[in-house]
Amino acid sequence: MNKKYVYAFSEGDGKNKQLLGGKGANLCEMTQIGLNVPAGFVISTEACLTYLADEQHRLPEGLIEEVHQQIATVEKNSGKGFGNADKPLLVSVRSGSAMSMPGMMDTILNLGLNNNTLPALIAETGNERFGYDAYRRFIQLFGKVALGVPDEKFDVHFEAVKKRSGVKADVGLTASDLKEISGLFLDVVKEHTGRPFPMDVYEQLEISIKAVFNSWMGKRAIDYRREFKITPDMANGTAVNIVEMVFGNMGDDCATGVGFTRNPGTGENLMFGEYLVNAQGEDVVAGIRTPKPVHHMGEEMPEMHSQLETLRSKLEAHYLEIQDFEYTIEKGILYCLQTRNGKMNAAAMVRTSVEMVKEGLINKEQALLRVDPELLEQLLHPRLMQNIKVQPLAQGLPASPGAASGHCVFDADRAEILGRSGEKVILVREETKPEDIHGFFASEGILTSRGGKTSHAAVVARGMGKPCVAGAEGISVDTQQRIAVVGEVTLKEGDFITIDGGTGDVYLGELPTEEPEFSDELKILLSWADDIAELKVMANADTPDAAQKAVEYGAMGIGLCRTERMFNATDRLPFMVNMILADTTEEREEALAKLRAMQRQDFKSLFKTMAPNPVTIRLLDPPIHEFLPTEKELEDDIDNLEQVRKDINGVAVLLSSLRLLRPEVKSNPENTVLPFNEEGKTLVDEAIAMKRHMLSKVRELFEVNPMLGHRGVRLSVTYPEIYEMQLQAVMEAEAECIKEGVSVHVEIMVPQVCTLQELKHVKRYVSATKERIEARNNLTLNFKFGTMIEVVRACMRAGHLAEEAEFFSFGTNDLTQATFSFSREDAENKFLPLYTEKNILHSNPFEVLDIKGVGQLMGLSVDWGRQTRPGMKIGICGEQGGHPESIRFCHHIKLNYVSCSAPRVPIARLAAAHAKLTESGYVVTERVQEVSS
Ligand code: ADP
Ligand code: MG
Ligand code: MG
Repeated sequence: MNKKYVYAFSEGDGKNKQLLGGKGANLCEMTQIGLNVPAGFVISTEACLTYLADEQHRLPEGLIEEVHQQIATVEKNSGKGFGNADKPLLVSVRSGSAMSMPGMMDTILNLGLNNNTLPALIAETGNERFGYDAYRRFIQLFGKVALGVPDEKFDVHFEAVKKRSGVKADVGLTASDLKEISGLFLDVVKEHTGRPFPMDVYEQLEISIKAVFNSWMGKRAIDYRREFKITPDMANGTAVNIVEMVFGNMGDDCATGVGFTRNPGTGENLMFGEYLVNAQGEDVVAGIRTPKPVHHMGEEMPEMHSQLETLRSKLEAHYLEIQDFEYTIEKGILYCLQTRNGKMNAAAMVRTSVEMVKEGLINKEQALLRVDPELLEQLLHPRLMQNIKVQPLAQGLPASPGAASGHCVFDADRAEILGRSGEKVILVREETKPEDIHGFFASEGILTSRGGKTSHAAVVARGMGKPCVAGAEGISVDTQQRIAVVGEVTLKEGDFITIDGGTGDVYLGELPTEEPEFSDELKILLSWADDIAELKVMANADTPDAAQKAVEYGAMGIGLCRTERMFNATDRLPFMVNMILADTTEEREEALAKLRAMQRQDFKSLFKTMAPNPVTIRLLDPPIHEFLPTEKELEDDIDNLEQVRKDINGVAVLLSSLRLLRPEVKSNPENTVLPFNEEGKTLVDEAIAMKRHMLSKVRELFEVNPMLGHRGVRLSVTYPEIYEMQLQAVMEAEAECIKEGVSVHVEIMVPQVCTLQELKHVKRYVSATKERIEARNNLTLNFKFGTMIEVVRACMRAGHLAEEAEFFSFGTNDLTQATFSFSREDAENKFLPLYTEKNILHSNPFEVLDIKGVGQLMGLSVDWGRQTRPGMKIGICGEQGGHPESIRFCHHIKLNYVSCSAPRVPIARLAAAHAKLTESGYVVTERVQEVSS
């Protein structure tokens, strides 16, 4: 027996899109739930693959027989005959694969018309115009789709007749116009193919089926699949749907239209769509006539409108998703020709999901699972107004989402000055450094010409929720001259630019943006997510402002406060620099005391903002030379200052000569210009001395590989007073909060730990400080003491570290770096893009957690840690903590929390719920299995 290739709409499995294609499966499903679908059948994708695999491209054995049988059934039920000159049956031939691939393949309508059936159709309908209209459409579509005749060959004739008859729209053409056109079209086909137009209806059908199959391997389809990364496991081959024709073009009681069951732009529960009276399907999409909005139908064809409303509720009640559907009305009867899940923007997706729960259509779990967490990104940042068509000036990496416009400025100080005065500015730099931080605060967005998605600019911008385009290499920034050059264009300070951190585009001028909407529905949806999720979602936040934002986004605490960020503010940096430059312990302690007072204030307001949720304070992490200028900058400064000193000497010589020449000058103090007097000279000397001192410090602190160098807990061994200062500030802040009755949960975290001895070393300072502050305040502090797990040795020794550490936090940025031995910046700028392009790695491990390597280390650490300390609290605070796929893994290895930048918090909350809801089926995804094993 032959394999079964053909399924009637009444028998096909509506769930099997791989076999029947999306369109075919849904036509079966709709037929079986009793919706009014024209009769028809589906030829499976298996038939397509078998056909394509055959070198001679023969239709699979038995297929034609099956098709004949199916046609016979349709004939029987409709009382019409295929190729019959009495009551002709016409069909459409429509492609459709498991994934929607719009425009891949055109549909052939009115197949079955020929010299015999046409007169029958005209006689039957008594409508000659309709008959010839159907015929000319068929000849053109068949000619184009099945025989490869270019559209233009038909169009010239069509336009010529229209022009001659003086009509604008094709509805104006008369029956005899259309008859003439049909004749001309038949000639076009003959001329182009060298054969007469096939009049045998089964031949027409067979040629069409083959044409649809062939289209699967056509250039258009292949390009489309490559572009949208459609792999064979998503869609393999196309099905062919043969559907009895119904006619929307038989008169004014006929129409054709497309619709959404709800508004896909806003989510509002109102049917949305357009229709055309007296037209055939493709006219709506082709834009030949302007369709009317569907609510007009309520007045024009009220009876049809209410049928359409019934169809809409039936579709939703069955599919439980917003449907995007196509229909035709033939003489007052409504037929549904297609349905699929509607594509919506994020706002509509959220709104409809929540409302469908309230309407009792779906439950909360279904609502949550419908919304892709990454989709929320759209809702959380300002974005460029849709449908703007402006050419970008330059392109960089989409480093932190959102759109912003402002005047460009080329250094952080100018940004601060202009920003303070109320101007909107975009900070444009070659790359940014920690000392630019005040410029970030003052700017709407950041644009750099160097660096990757984890460059300083990108990480800081994401943390602040500000848009950032990084590594826009087409731009060359000249800070000295305060310009940036992009090809022909020169941007001067103050020129307006717009950046889109979601796409990486940079535009000249101010483009309109839309504000984000944290709607009530989104709040509801996320509260359901929190109820279900087991992972808590914390934020990485360093300032009280950022903490406030994190609270608004629903963060359940701060999982990482990087204390070094506090030192970079303009009012603190000088003390930090003094501390580093100090030659004596006293000098150092004096600077530290000032910093301590500032940090205590910062911590206190963080604790208050987050109360009663936990705040995790990480002790100083980066190498301290990051707080100093670079060697090159200092050398330049010293050169310049020396020039100034020479100038002063020159002026002094000039002044003394003047005194001899013109004694009165001496007696007039106004002639001595301030910077050139003696005091100025000593100031310059002092400045030079200070810069030289800094330079020698910078040289002393120089490290070949600072990322692996003198940083983190290692600093506590060389400069114990820094950690002591920070510990004291944290504990004093806690003590003050306790006294004020604020409920605080402080966690102190040590970075870069490799050994238990390091932790013990810090712990000694912790205990001593604690005792002191408790005694002084007469209260009990109850912070937790824990460690980052971000070096490989810490993973391997996790069981031992847990003896001292009360919690672990995986620093997966450093851990990824250490696991791969990839220096992050170099990797992202040089070779990682190629790794992913060539499928050597399935994604950038700094963005998506590398489950197989880094994840494996994490899993081991969790097990060993909890063996020593059962129930130990463990989380992740690397950037990957905001990525849904990584979050699934964190749930899987039973972490307690993920911590990510504030704007990612809503995404992470939803992803944490998804992780719980889909945990039973959790396997490391196939793609991950395949690649990077
Ligand atoms: P696409 O995949 O591009 O949407 P379709 O196969 O859905 O193409 O066909 C496009 C349009 O052609 C449909 O929306 C419908 O209006 C019209 N059409 C297709 N089949 C029929 C049919 N059997 N009767 C009436 N119109 C049809
Ligand atoms: Mg369609
Ligand atoms: Mg780290």
